[in-house]
Amino acid sequence: MAASVLSSPADRAGAVLTVDLAALAENWRLLKRRAGAACDVGAVVKADAYGLGLEPVARTLKAAGCATFYVAHLDEGLALRPILGAGPRIVVMHGPNPGTERDFAAHGLIPVLSTVGQVRSWRSFAMANDVLMDSLVQIDTGMNRLGLTPAEFTALMNDPDGFVGLTPLALMSHLACAEIPAHPLNKQQYERFTSALSAFRLKFADVKGSLANSSGLFLDKALHYDLARPGAALYGVNPTPSSPNPMIPVVRLSAKILQVRRVDAASPVGYGATFQALDGAKLATVSMGYADGLLRSWGVSGHAYIDDLRVRVAGRVSMDLTTFDVSDAPDSALGPSAMVDILGTRQTVDDLAKASGTIGYEILTALGRRYHRRYLPAPGSSAAQK
Ligand SMILES: *Cc1c(COP(=O)(O)O)cnc(C)c1O
Repeated sequence: MAASVLSSPADRAGAVLTVDLAALAENWRLLKRRAGAACDVGAVVKADAYGLGLEPVARTLKAAGCATFYVAHLDEGLALRPILGAGPRIVVMHGPNPGTERDFAAHGLIPVLSTVGQVRSWRSFAMANDVLMDSLVQIDTGMNRLGLTPAEFTALMNDPDGFVGLTPLALMSHLACAEIPAHPLNKQQYERFTSALSAFRLKFADVKGSLANSSGLFLDKALHYDLARPGAALYGVNPTPSSPNPMIPVVRLSAKILQVRRVDAASPVGYGATFQALDGAKLATVSMGYADGLLRSWGVSGHAYIDDLRVRVAGRVSMDLTTFDVSDAPDSALGPSAMVDILGTRQTVDDLAKASGTIGYEILTALGRRYHRRYLPAPGSSAAQK
């Protein structure tokens, strides 16, 4: 920001996003205790750490003891390496696009190899350059999204040159229904993964297994294997949707009220005039809309809080503005510094997701770039100096 700007970012912004790094660290430790000492509990920090900020999140988790970080894209890995320094493992889950192998090697980024093409090109790259570098081999065990198909894996296993030149750290797969413990696919994926892992260990004796995401860590310990890849739970999303949330909330979001008005007669509110305010109703408009990650679908029946008072969305969410019916709020609660709490203890990420017809993951990753971001420090960490 230009030096001639005299106001503070907090004063300029329309809303404040607070990220509690102490809660983040505590959530990682909670997962670590669940998984037990033998399991390397990493952290998935793709998509800017689920929208919460790669740098402060990664620094906090490293300070808490996390030693393996997972991103989706090579660019995310390249951004993460200088933040973490040389020590921690960085796994790039989408693996190398053709021609990018040398950047993995140069920055010590571990590729996940999910296609026959990726296995082949990594193999030739490793052999041509005499590179002995870890990789993960991903197989599909029933989700049909990404990973070697059973036929491709078998063909590579039966080909004496199939995996030659690779030094795989782990065999990996991903659970499709981990948040539904009774879903039969969990057992099927477990069985397929276990059998593929045993076969793979005949070639690579010490290779590790990696299957569990956040919810996977709340399934039977047999599914934890050696490398766990939790993301959402670290950020406070409930990994066990049918039971109370074992995680600590990490995110708070409060919007400033730009204007309060009282309507003199029953009147429509917002685009499309979809909401009728009653005669004498009080309305408050906040400086936040769908460009900031509030979904339009939330407008239909969503609500937020002013202190303990629940206030409902009045009409459609616009790009930069949202209006609430605050008729029940005393004028003393609507003063110049009044805020409407969108996320916090009264409305969690999961609550807001439910009210918007989506999941907490989408709420977090949709969080906008225009907030003033406050990072509450984790004790003993320098992560929050920002
Ligand atoms: C995103 C992702 C994860 C993390 O999943 P959560 O449900 O957020 O814990 C783990 N593994 C893979 C392959 C992923 O894409």
